[in-house]
Amino acid sequence: QVLAQGQAAPLLPKGSHGGLCDPADLARGIASGELINHYQPKVVLANGAVDGVEALVRWQHPRQGIIYPDQFISVAEQHGMIEELSRCVMRQALSDARFWRQHGLSLNIAINVTMNNISSLLFPEFVTQMAMETGMPLDHLVLEVTESQLMAEPLKALDSVARLRLKRIGLSIDDFGTGYSSLAQLRDFPFNELKIDRSFVHQASRDPTRKAIFDSTLAMAEQLGMSTVAEGVEDAEDWDYLQKLGRCHLAQGYFIARPMPAEKIVDWLQQWHH
Ligand code: C2E
Ligand code: CA
Ligand code: CA
Ligand code: CA
Repeated sequence: QVLAQGQAAPLLPKGSHGGLCDPADLARGIASGELINHYQPKVVLANGAVDGVEALVRWQHPRQGIIYPDQFISVAEQHGMIEELSRCVMRQALSDARFWRQHGLSLNIAINVTMNNISSLLFPEFVTQMAMETGMPLDHLVLEVTESQLMAEPLKALDSVARLRLKRIGLSIDDFGTGYSSLAQLRDFPFNELKIDRSFVHQASRDPTRKAIFDSTLAMAEQLGMSTVAEGVEDAEDWDYLQKLGRCHLAQGYFIARPMPAEKIVDWLQQWHH
């Protein structure tokens, strides 16, 4: 769209995926409680049981509508706001988890964190403290860190991850296959879960390259005793393929459920079981 000279650019349409957000506006948004968690179920492939949910943060902007994390996580990281942002996500997730437990639902709760979060001295302390206050068992909590972030500083990561595992907090390598970890590094990392990136999952049944990467990743995870999650299960074909394969533990994706607000989870669980 061509704009006449001097004419102001139109406001971004609702829910648009534009560029990075303005840091000062983000600081304001965090302080005003505009960040809210949505949750996407993780389901056991063998029997369809719901293992837990992953928190995915959204910014409900008063003028721009919903803004997605790709537009503000890196900004928070670069402007010293990631500790506060992650605390806010964790606080909401633990409070929602307490609500679900009161309804008899014991779900594992996964949170996305950055390397800065897990290697910070204060954040793991905050997590354990909050979990204790809200009655959340630490072994029902999972922290997901992307493979590329881990491998940027493997030694630092190793130390932080080991400290968290000692507390029995679950640790998951996210977007696996998009970073560059070696088998030797993985063997040294005490991760208990590996999430295979959606670029190798969706349409794996008809693409020999994806299939090969997918299969060898599963074989490696099995050898290392890690639980596996296939993300990006988008259609019945993906789901059927994984079920027939019978090797991957959990699945996540639009075919099962899209991320949804906390208050929809109870209803979703009811209709999923019937
Ligand atoms: P991720 O952790 O890999 O999360 C999966 C992303 O894929 C989510 O996008 C989710 O909505 C989307 N997705 C789920 N199922 C499907 C599917 O079947 N097909 C496709 N095409 N996409 C699917 P979202 O919510 O926009 O999040 C993007 C990334 O932002 C996340 O990737 C995660 O790395 C990061 N992120 C989200 N929430 C947080 C947070 O609270 N803290 C931090 N540090 N990062 C977060
Ligand atoms: Ca994730
Ligand atoms: Ca992922
Ligand atoms: Ca991702």
